[in-house]
Amino acid sequence: MNKLDRYDVTIVGGGHNGLAAACYLAKAGKKVIVLEALAKAGGMASSGYAIPQAPQHLVHTCALDLMSLRVHPMVPKELDLERHGFHTVEMTPGYAYLHPDGSSLVFWRDPEKTAAEIRRFSATDAESFLRFMKVIDVFIDMAVPMMRVDPAKKNIGTKLRVLRTALLNRKLRPDLMALITGSAYQAILEKFEHPVTISAMCALTGAAGPVTAEGSGIFFALLGFLHRFGVGRVIGGMQALPDAMVARLQELGGEVMTSAAVTEIIAEGGKVQGVRLHDGRIIHSRAVIASCHPKMALDMVTPGAIEKHLLTRVAMAPANAHGASPLRVDLALSTQVSVRRHEAWRNDGLSLRKCVLLIGTAEAVLENFSASARGEVPTLPYMWITAPSAVDPGQAPPGQDIVYLYPPAMPVNPREGWDAIRAKTADQVIEQASHYMDGLTSHEIGRRVEASPDLAKRLNVHNGCVTHLDTSALRSNTLRPAYGLGGDTLPVAGLYFGGAGIHPGGGVNGMPGRLAASRVRRFLG
Ligand SMILES: Cc1cc2nc3c(=O)[nH]c(=O)nc-3n(C[C@H](O)[C@H](O)[C@H](O)COP(=O)(O)OP(=O)(O)OC[C@H]3O[C@@H](n4cnc5c(N)ncnc54)[C@H](O)[C@@H]3O)c2cc1C
Repeated sequence: MNKLDRYDVTIVGGGHNGLAAACYLAKAGKKVIVLEALAKAGGMASSGYAIPQAPQHLVHTCALDLMSLRVHPMVPKELDLERHGFHTVEMTPGYAYLHPDGSSLVFWRDPEKTAAEIRRFSATDAESFLRFMKVIDVFIDMAVPMMRVDPAKKNIGTKLRVLRTALLNRKLRPDLMALITGSAYQAILEKFEHPVTISAMCALTGAAGPVTAEGSGIFFALLGFLHRFGVGRVIGGMQALPDAMVARLQELGGEVMTSAAVTEIIAEGGKVQGVRLHDGRIIHSRAVIASCHPKMALDMVTPGAIEKHLLTRVAMAPANAHGASPLRVDLALSTQVSVRRHEAWRNDGLSLRKCVLLIGTAEAVLENFSASARGEVPTLPYMWITAPSAVDPGQAPPGQDIVYLYPPAMPVNPREGWDAIRAKTADQVIEQASHYMDGLTSHEIGRRVEASPDLAKRLNVHNGCVTHLDTSALRSNTLRPAYGLGGDTLPVAGLYFGGAGIHPGGGVNGMPGRLAASRVRRFLG
């Protein structure tokens, strides 16, 4: 053992949450090391040149948009990441819904402006939208403060503030309860009548999961976040976030080891002792934060240290439990895309090239989730499509674009297996997208395609779930990842979860890492 083999804290996984945890702990004077299985840090928050035929087209393999981080902006500020090259830009407007008939509905920051878009289709829907936004705003006022605290603590002050919000808005209580307890689709049908409004709302909320699922009304937080906080992008690509975190960590004296897969979290006598690496090396530490998926984490703990019922509970925690997961298709083009048909309909000079475009009807959203649940590829994939280089031109050579296609509801386990259908499904997705975005089929240089089992294998994430665990009220606070496993202690003293599988959940925000660091600081004293 050399002198570097003993640490206060070892962090399994160099995703942005693991790195955030490491930075906070190093800032508190702890000796920290991050162990990342892949050759570079970032996990699902990374970007790189991943299409061999297009070495200058930057690919976002997973996360692209910053919404969650704008809702919880504390991590980059507290860690002083701008000084290390992390800069963002707001997209104005961020998202636009495109209907097959050529019409469109833009989601602006200002709800009145979005209502004006909806009014083109239905005056009733526009008024209903403004009333609905008041309900969503109250939901956000109550949910966001709770997302920012450790749910294992009493949080009396925060709870009193939330209670005050509830009392001040008690007239909205019936609407709020209907929203939280019902499905997103129920809320949509209750409030809207025009097919374009209905489809736009389904296409937006469907990115969080099946819109007909019980409790999916909370997906409408997305609509509220979009208006209150807006959407951003990382200038130079998402990799600038983990790179800035690594630089900050090193400045604080912490270490990152890449190509360092952990195979065992060593537990003896009810206490964590450190970890074993794939090559047999042992790294000793007083605490371990597992920022990878919680199931993968507990499966690695020395056999016998975690009781069977807890291993079962975390293994059964829903991760793409509905059978659907996104397919990722990136296209490097020798041209710049345009959105001519829908821009012509608007006739207001707005360029849709820079937006995230939501395409597909309400029927397609519903069909995509039910087909995926049956193990079938949807007939008309509904999707989010965008050209990141339209917002940040440095991400592709001059006059060219990189395009990001994201059909959220594809089968996790298609009957034929992904190896048999990956290529033809990508063709189908590109063909469908080409009815909305010009230039996709005739100017391709190269592409990258990743289905959920590919992601599961590459990043060691259970069932390829993009948020590690599905987003639901029953998997929030101390119930995330599962009852008995979401508090500030685990059955092995010194072991903590610290990724998207704990409160407040998935998305690029660093909050689970920040939470894990505060728990470990209390443990270490
Ligand atoms: C396709 C896709 C699109 C997305 N789009 C967005 C978006 O636009 N906006 C947004 O906010 N969020 C988005 N997300 C979600 C978001 O990216 C994730 O929820 C978040 O980045 C998870 O971060 P994490 O650090 O908790 O976990 P991860 O990023 O999964 O990091 C865990 C790390 O642990 C490593 N690891 C696993 N096992 C081991 C081991 N045994 N030893 C060592 N290392 C190990 C992995 O390699 C990985 O680097 C998207 C996710 C995906 C997959």
